[in-house]
Parts: sequence; C-alpha cells; structure tokens
Amino acid sequence: MAERLKRTALTAAWVVGHEDGQHCLYRNGTVIVEGEKVLHAGHDFAGDVAETIDFGEALIGPGFIDLDALADLDTTVLGYDNHPPELKGRVWPQSYMAAGPREMYTPEELAFQKRYAFTRLIHNGITTALPIASLFYRAWGEKAEEFDAAAEAAADLGLRVYLGPAYRSGNLVVNEDRQIGFHYDEPRGFAGLAEAEAFVARHENNHGGLIRTMLAPDRIETSTPELLRRSGAAARDLGVPIRLHCCQSRLEYDLVLQQHGKSPLELLRDTQFFAPSTILPHGLFLSGLNGITHAAPDLEILTASGSSLAHCPLVMARSGKIMQSFARFRDLGVPIGMGTDTHPADMIQNMALGVMTARIAEGDPTAVRAADFYDAATLGGAAALNRADLGRLAPGSAADLNVIRLDSPDIGQRIDPIQTILLNGAGRDVSDVMIAGRFVMRDGVIPGVDDMAYHAKAQAQFDRMVAQYPDRTLFHPPVEEIFACSYGIKDA
Ligand SMILES: [Zn+2]
Repeated sequence: MAERLKRTALTAAWVVGHEDGQHCLYRNGTVIVEGEKVLHAGHDFAGDVAETIDFGEALIGPGFIDLDALADLDTTVLGYDNHPPELKGRVWPQSYMAAGPREMYTPEELAFQKRYAFTRLIHNGITTALPIASLFYRAWGEKAEEFDAAAEAAADLGLRVYLGPAYRSGNLVVNEDRQIGFHYDEPRGFAGLAEAEAFVARHENNHGGLIRTMLAPDRIETSTPELLRRSGAAARDLGVPIRLHCCQSRLEYDLVLQQHGKSPLELLRDTQFFAPSTILPHGLFLSGLNGITHAAPDLEILTASGSSLAHCPLVMARSGKIMQSFARFRDLGVPIGMGTDTHPADMIQNMALGVMTARIAEGDPTAVRAADFYDAATLGGAAALNRADLGRLAPGSAADLNVIRLDSPDIGQRIDPIQTILLNGAGRDVSDVMIAGRFVMRDGVIPGVDDMAYHAKAQAQFDRMVAQYPDRTLFHPPVEEIFACSYGIKDA
C-alpha cells in the first residue's frame, strides 16, 4: 500500500467542498490533506504544505460510497437475453438441491475474485464498499475464511470496506413441473449468523479503521422469520450495519406474502429486524408501487424504520425495472444511498441512469436533479452507515476522494462539472483515488496490480464456471442451449 503523504495540497479546476450540511463547488479549489484526514477544502489556505499536486482540468470530489458493491464475477451477461431464469440455471433444480449443492469456485478463486472486484471499484472512484456476491454459485452461504482473505485484500489495496459473509436459511428450487418452491434449512442459517458474528468480533475496526464489518443476511425471501429476528438483534447488540435484499422483485413480494401473510416490510417490522444502520437494496416493490396491488402500510413502515435504500438503477434497468420513484422516497424523507451491484462498478453511469429513470417514473424532468444523485452516492451512503466523516470533503473528514478528468474530448461542453459528468462522463474518467490519505490509484494505475492479467484470470475462472451449468439447470440442456448467443456463430 502507498505511503501516507505529508501535508499536501491537491488542486484542480473544480473541488466539491462542504458547507452548512451540503456540498458546494469551488472553482480553482484546493484540498489540503494531512495524515488520513482533510484539513481544508476550499480556496485560500494560509499554512505551509510539503507538496502541491495540481490535477488541472478535473473535479476533485468525495469518494463514492457503494452500498451494494459487486464482489464476485458478474454473471449478468448470462441472464441478459437468456430467459426465463428457472430454465436457464438461475434457480436450482430439485435434483441439484437433493444431490447436495457444491461450491462452483475454489477458495483461491473466491479470494482472487474479491481482490479483482475491489480493483474495479477503485478504478471507478469508489472509496467505501459493502461487497455483495451471488449465492447461486455457492454450496450455501459465504464463508468467514474467504472474508478473512477479503479483509487482507482490502487492507493491501487500501480500500475502505464493510465486510460480512452472507448467510441464509432458505433457497428457491424448481421442480420438473417448473413450479418454484423453497428448500429450508434453518439451523444452517443460524450457523451462518454465528459465523458472521464471530467475523465481526475478529475484524471490526482493523487496519486503522479501514476494515469495518456488517451483518449480511442474503435476502428476505431466503430468511426465516426467526433468522430475521436474531439478525436484527445481533446488529443492534454489535452496533454494526445490517443489509438485506428486500422489495427487489415481484416474485419476492408475492412469495413473502404467500408464506407469511404479510408484506416484506411488515415481516421486517414484526420480527423487529430494524437496527440503527439498516440498508435495504433495492426498494422497488412496495404496496402501490411497480404493480403491487396488495394493500399494506409499506411506505409508512419504511419511513418510520429510518432504513436506507441502496438504489442500484443500472442492474435493475437491465431487467426492465425502475424505482417508483427516487423523488417520492426523497420527499418522504427516506434516506437513499447508491450501489453498483453489477459490472461495470460505474457509479457515474448509475447516477446518470438514476436521473433518467426517476424522470421517467415521474413523467417530469424537474422531479430530480443531478445533485440529488451525487448526494446519494456520497452523503446518502455516509448517512446509511452513520458516518459523518465520509462522503464529504470538509475539515476533519476522512481524506477519501476521487479525481474525475474534465479534459477528455468525450466529456463535451460544460458549465458545471456535476451535470457534465452525469451527462457525458463514465467511471473510466476517474484518474486518481485517495482513501484515508493514501493514493490507492495514480493516473489510472493501482500499485502492484496488473489489470490485464486480472482480466484474463477472471475470464478463465468464468469460463470454467459456465461449463458447470448443465447439471444445475432444469432438464440439463447443454451449455450452448442454456446460453444462446445474439446471432448464429460461424466457427472457422
Ligand atoms: Zn443487489
């Protein structure tokens, strides 16, 4: 990991500062970093500095906070055009469940994937990450040991993380009649929670506070009520954030209603799940929204709970779903942070799509502004984690920042850097990233990381995983049939 700098001035054409509880923009601004903190962000600084680094035509802003940060190999490409999920290996067939599901990756592969994913987050200007991975490829839940490796990787790369192995007590299965049902193993869920609690005790606040922990029960529909109850109580006892996928699909809402006679949010309320830092990806399917006609006080429960939504517009829009809407939740006072949740881990693309989908949802271009989403990706994430020192560049805040180039021909014309990056920018315009006063990326290069070698290694692991699909897909078709290509392939 790079050394921490002596008192250093970072200058650029634009700096996002922070005053009276909100961001402001300094033209030709300066950020003074000392140790792991910001000493000053604004214009004039009277004191001495050891060094000045000028980024020129660029925006220096607070690092992005990713509440649902992809931490494995993204499999979106497998389900992009290939539907429905239960015929394409994205719901386990009964036969696979009965045979005893297996790990699709080795522990070494899983450790590499976390490290690889963390480098992609840094490239996109993300400075705080709450990793998420799919359990489809696991024998059941995530293992504490792989998160020991993840903590090591994060510490080595200098990424600020909240880590916790995902656990669950149930899983969806599909039978030969294409009926989707559940397999439950509640003791396995309790064992997962115990493993996660032990992980918290081992890792909380390690590496100078860079490594924090959380509880991560996987999804509401794969958790029994007792697991939800114990998880919420554990999060409150341990004082760590808790994240649960909830209100993310129609199927989930219907299944929870069918099984428990209550809506997902009613189930969370009745199991006393909510903790001071509760993060719910994705908040799309609530009573009255996105076609849910069942009457339940979902919006009231959500608002009263103080939970933050993790809004991930890119992954959702890829499957035709949008939040209804960002503006409505904002006006109700529901805290909203952002997540990337898929490849690319491009927060800029997510903010841009967030603006578009929110305006589509409301049928009103004035419903949201670019700044709403820049706020969500910075201040919203910090609020979700109860971290007043993150998501802003102000005296005493963590020196977590990113530098976004404004001088590429691709960026077009500009009057304001925030609207410009949301219109024309991308994660690829992030050139430099600092976390806790250390540069973790300089001019597109992460020290000690060979991006091309990582890319090749990730593809090789992905190919081996895809080849294993037939026995875990209903009726066991060959790979070529499960994943059809866009056009007929003519091999030489
Ligand atoms: Zn998600």
